[in-house]
Amino acid sequence: MRVDTARRHHWRQISREPETGTEPLAGDAEADIVVVGGGFTGLSAALAAAEAGSSVLLLEAEYIGAGASGRNNGMVVPQHSRANPAIVERALGSAFGPRYNAMVAGAAAELFSLIRRHGIDCDAVQQGWIQPAHSEATLAQARIIHAEWKAFGAAVAWFDAAELAARLGAPGYLGGWQALEGGHINPYPLTQGLARAAIRAGARLLVNARVRGLRRDGSYWRIEATGGVVRARTVLIATNALGAALWPGLIRTMIPVKLYQTASSPLSDNLRRTILPGNVGFSDLRREIRAFHYDRDGRLISGGRMMFWQDAAERGRRAVRNGIAATFPVIGEIAVEDYWEGIVGVTPDRLPRLMRLAPGVLFCGAYSGRGVALGSALGRRLGQFLAGAIAEADLPLPVTSLRAIPAHGIQVLGARLVRPWHLLLDRRDERLVKRRS
Ligand SMILES: Cc1cc2nc3c(=O)[nH]c(=O)nc-3n(C[C@H](O)[C@H](O)[C@H](O)COP(=O)(O)OP(=O)(O)OC[C@H]3O[C@@H](n4cnc5c(N)ncnc54)[C@H](O)[C@@H]3O)c2cc1C
Repeated sequence: MRVDTARRHHWRQISREPETGTEPLAGDAEADIVVVGGGFTGLSAALAAAEAGSSVLLLEAEYIGAGASGRNNGMVVPQHSRANPAIVERALGSAFGPRYNAMVAGAAAELFSLIRRHGIDCDAVQQGWIQPAHSEATLAQARIIHAEWKAFGAAVAWFDAAELAARLGAPGYLGGWQALEGGHINPYPLTQGLARAAIRAGARLLVNARVRGLRRDGSYWRIEATGGVVRARTVLIATNALGAALWPGLIRTMIPVKLYQTASSPLSDNLRRTILPGNVGFSDLRREIRAFHYDRDGRLISGGRMMFWQDAAERGRRAVRNGIAATFPVIGEIAVEDYWEGIVGVTPDRLPRLMRLAPGVLFCGAYSGRGVALGSALGRRLGQFLAGAIAEADLPLPVTSLRAIPAHGIQVLGARLVRPWHLLLDRRDERLVKRRS
C-alpha cells in the first residue's frame, strides 16, 4: 500500500511555515536516542527528549511530514476513536485507564498551547469539535460519550437538533456533543513547526534517511540507513503503518487503511454565514467518514475511506461532492479542487500501540485515525520517558511486548471490503429517521 508523497497536496501548497532543511545522513553518527519517522509521534518525542537534555537524532525516510501527519484532515480531537471513557477504562484498568483518559481529554488544549508556544503558523482554529448523531442509536451513543466526559471533568457541551442545525448549517442531525477545546489545523506546517522547535531544542533531524534495519552491537543498536550507520542505546520506531518491514512481526500489529482527503473550492462569504458560521469542525457518528471543516480560505476539507484503487481520485471526488450535497443542501454544486491520499494504522480495540520490541527498542503509533492530538501528546510523554525525565510507570499506557493481531490477513481484507456494508447500514439509519419524522 503506497501513496504519492512526491506530489504537493493542498496542505503543503498553502503552508506558510518554512520547510525543514534537507540535511541527509553522511557517514556514521551516534546519539543517546534515535527516532525513526518524522511525523507527530517522532517529532514530539524528539522535541521532548531534546528539551530534557538528551542527544537525539531523528531519521526520516522522505521529508518531514511525508506520512499521515502532513496529509491528514487536520481535526484536533480530544476524544477516543469509536470508544467512550468507560470502555477505555475497562480495557486499560484502574491505573492506566483514568490517566489515559486524562491525556486524551487534555490533548487538544495541550497541542494548541504547544503551537502558540513555538509560534507555529498552521492556521490553528480552536473553536471546538462537534460529534453529531444522525440516528436514534448514535444519539444514544453521543449522550453516553457526552455524559461520561462531563463526569470526567472535560470541557464539553450538548446541543439539541435545532442548535446543531444552526451551528453546523447542516439540517437533519438529531443532537450531538462538542469538545470545547478541540479544533482544526493545517497539519503540514504543524509538522514543519514541530521540526523547527525540535532542532532549536538541539535534536538533529535527517531526511532522505530511510532506515533499512536494526542490529544489536553490544549494548548499542546499529541503525542502518540511507547514507550511513547510527549507533544508539535507545531507538523509538515512530513509523506508524509505514515502517512495518523494519522489525519482524511489526506488520501484524495493525491494519493499514488508505484514506483520501479533498479540498473544495472556497465557499462564498454568504454561504459561510450559514455553513459552519463559528468555524467549528465536525465528524459525525456514521460508520463511514463524514467530516468537514474550513481551511483558512473557506474551502471545505473532507475525505473518506478508499475501497477501489481504480479511478480512486474520481470516485473520491464524486463521493465528497455527494456528501457535501447531502449534508449541506444549500451549497448545491461545488468543485473539488484537490484530492490526495494517506495511510492510517488501525487496531481492533482502537487503542494505540506502545510496544517494547527488544530491550532499548520501542514502537509507538497506530492511532486509528485520531493521531493529531493523541500522537503529539503520547510522543511528548514518550520523549520525556526516553530521556529519563519520567518513569515508565507514569506513562499513560502500559508498555507491552509486540502484539500481533490474530488472523491479521483476514482483518486487513475485511477492512478493505467493509465499506459497502457500512454505507448500507448508514443509509438504513437515515431511512429510519426519515420514516419517523
Ligand atoms: C487521510 C488521513 C486523515 C486523517 N485525519 C485525521 C484527523 O482529522 N484527526 C486526527 O487526529 N488524525 C487523523 N489522521 C490520523 C493521523 O494523521 C495519524 O494518526 C498521525 O499522523 C500518525 O502520526 P505518526 O507520527 O505516528 O505517523 P506518520 O505521520 O505516518 O509518520 C511516520 C513517518 O515515518 C517515516 N518512515 C516510514 N518508514 C521509515 C523508515 N524505514 N525509515 C525512516 N522513516 C520512515 C514516514 O516517511 C513518515 O514520515 C488521519 C490520517 C490520514 C491518513
